[in-house]
Amino acid sequence: MSRLLFLLALAVVGYYFYRTLIRRRTHNADHRTTRSLDVVRCHYCGLLVENDKALTHAGHHYCSREHMARDEAGST
Ligand SMILES: [Zn+2]
Repeated sequence: MSRLLFLLALAVVGYYFYRTLIRRRTHNADHRTTRSLDVVRCHYCGLLVENDKALTHAGHHYCSREHMARDEAGST
């Protein structure tokens, strides 16, 4: 009887371990997809910059403050 309970406990632990592993893999894949889409192009030099690191001014994205200032000076 105790052997049956041990096997049952082992199956339950194995099941939860398997589910956690699958969930972690799925989460990582989703995160990678989101990151690859979150890229914008610098309006001045065309460099690809991560959206959260890019500078935005007047509806345009820039890789640096220098390029934002240069583009502003060139367009006016
Ligand atoms: Zn740039």
